[in-house]
Amino acid sequence: MQHAEAGKPLIKFNHCKKCIYSFSVPRCCPLCRQDMGSRRLEEAPVSIANPFTNGHQEKCSFLLRPTQGTFLREYDGRSDLHVGITNTNGVVYNYTAHGVQRDEAGWEQSVSIPLLQPGMFGLRDQWDKYLEDFSTTGAWLPHRYEEDHHNCYSYTLTFINRILTTEGREQLDKNEFTEKYVVPRTRTASKYIALYRAAAEHGFYAVDHPDEETSPPPGGALC
Ligand SMILES: [Zn+2]
Repeated sequence: MQHAEAGKPLIKFNHCKKCIYSFSVPRCCPLCRQDMGSRRLEEAPVSIANPFTNGHQEKCSFLLRPTQGTFLREYDGRSDLHVGITNTNGVVYNYTAHGVQRDEAGWEQSVSIPLLQPGMFGLRDQWDKYLEDFSTTGAWLPHRYEEDHHNCYSYTLTFINRILTTEGREQLDKNEFTEKYVVPRTRTASKYIALYRAAAEHGFYAVDHPDEETSPPPGGALC
């Protein structure tokens, strides 16, 4: 079910000098009750980019999801996140206290970051073997797991650094990786979640100046 995975598509339209978020364009404006039939071009609804994707459809990517529950329902901006890496068939490799898991389900609502530069075909061909070989080394046995220091992040980051080395690029430490890749995306996800939940609760959500209401960074793509 599409709705259970990435959520209902969220749209935005303008009326009454406000930005109105909703899941469908109503016949009349929810604020002034005026007929929405004859819209001017600048009032035409636009769809809001959904920051979540079905991770099982992403190849060679880094995935992020709440450890418990889903982003749209349970995530509160501070919830623990679990991370993994997909192979070319959408199987999500991730490290837990039970060792390396190869999930074929459960990552349907993820934030995804592609790991391969365009044109790295040789690496793509070897990807599944690299990932499988990497995952069967002793470093990722269940008893080696430590919640704070040898966890799902250690596993994915170590793998990502192997790939970066193969591509001739600089390695990343955990802070760099988090700042550069994870934080901007969880920030975008949090904004989307706030709009989504408000629209779901009230049927629509109107803001004067979305930039102030939801405080996205300059150039934020939500409104
Ligand atoms: Zn109106």
